[in-house]
Amino acid sequence: MPGFELFGAEEKKEVQDVLDNGVLMRYGFDGNRNGHHKALELERDLASRMQTKYAQVVSSGTAALTVALASAGVGSGDEVIMPTFTFVASFEAILSVGATPILCDIDDTLTLDPKAVKEAITNKTKVVMPVHMCGSMADLGALKSICDEHNLILLEDACQAIGGSYDNKPLGSYGDLGCFSFDYVKTVTCGEGGGLITNSEIFADNAHKYQDHGHDHIGKDRGAETHPFLGYNYRLSELNAAVGIAQLRKLDHTINLQEKNYTILRNALSSIPEVTFRRVPETGVESYAFLNLFLPTEELARKGHKALSEYGVDTCFYWFDNNWHYYKKWEHLLEPKSLNKLSTEQQMGLRKNNRSFPSSDAWMGRTISCLIKVGWSERDVKERASKMVEALQSILY
Ligand SMILES: *Cc1c(COP(=O)(O)O)cnc(C)c1O
Repeated sequence: MPGFELFGAEEKKEVQDVLDNGVLMRYGFDGNRNGHHKALELERDLASRMQTKYAQVVSSGTAALTVALASAGVGSGDEVIMPTFTFVASFEAILSVGATPILCDIDDTLTLDPKAVKEAITNKTKVVMPVHMCGSMADLGALKSICDEHNLILLEDACQAIGGSYDNKPLGSYGDLGCFSFDYVKTVTCGEGGGLITNSEIFADNAHKYQDHGHDHIGKDRGAETHPFLGYNYRLSELNAAVGIAQLRKLDHTINLQEKNYTILRNALSSIPEVTFRRVPETGVESYAFLNLFLPTEELARKGHKALSEYGVDTCFYWFDNNWHYYKKWEHLLEPKSLNKLSTEQQMGLRKNNRSFPSSDAWMGRTISCLIKVGWSERDVKERASKMVEALQSILY
């Protein structure tokens, strides 16, 4: 997944353009910037690659989620349905706009189970937020029908699946809003950064203003701009945007390399009948950022994960025990512990999350996820494939 494996002359050239004129901010200073608008260029490239009308780049993936929610008017009293397996950013963004994250079971797609989503809907629900974890997607068709029926917003967190698609549409572009992260370990990286995409002119216009203190961005004189509504500062700097431009151009190349490496590993592991793979919804195409597999039981998955590391196979994760990615270790959310006071609605809503999620536990307990790197040589991958097979056979037979 990490785009940093491919840093080269292209990134340096884009950054050099910015350093040569010294304008590190995306707005203003037009006299000095020598025609370079890197953040704007990255937005045009992102919208074009993702086949959406609009893109807004911001300072992180967490900021992208926050700005996306705010742009759709989500706030106090609203509930947002999110999966039990994700990154902590999902609930952070929801809480930061004043809304309440409602945890929901996942299925063998490793993200939102449409049946569980239906059961979680209340008259406060405003958004359904599937998270396309580890390179593959939710059953977006089913989720969209639910959202249409209940008049809800479908917000795709595609931070870990940039470059994948569903129904021939780039992931992130299927819902009302889609978000990406360009943090240091993502497929497209600019150090810290993120972006949102949408076809809604209203959401795009709101996002554009909200991420820059509510500035209206009308006219040339920043000092004379008015503030149609409150906003914050989630701007991306020109330096980060410059790196992002070069990285995004490499996306298709990166995905091809990931797919090649993924396929070698998957074919090798398919020789073990006890190993099965995560379900990819019909019409879905993965980004191949990870290979996600199931072992028959939680006990075997734990043993398998341990054996992989003992056989020298790095970058394999057992997310079930992970404190960033799985609800069981989010005691700060579940208790909850907050520095600032949560609203009464948030406190009451969060109580609903203090329950068990048996379907999530059943799937995640059996899941091992292997990060796919792009820098591996064919020999590296083949060696890795045989080690993985040996490691898993050692615990099965
Ligand atoms: C990385 C990530 C984010 C947040 O992105 P940052 O840029 O690190 O803030 C959100 N959701 C998921 C699924 C992620 O993997």
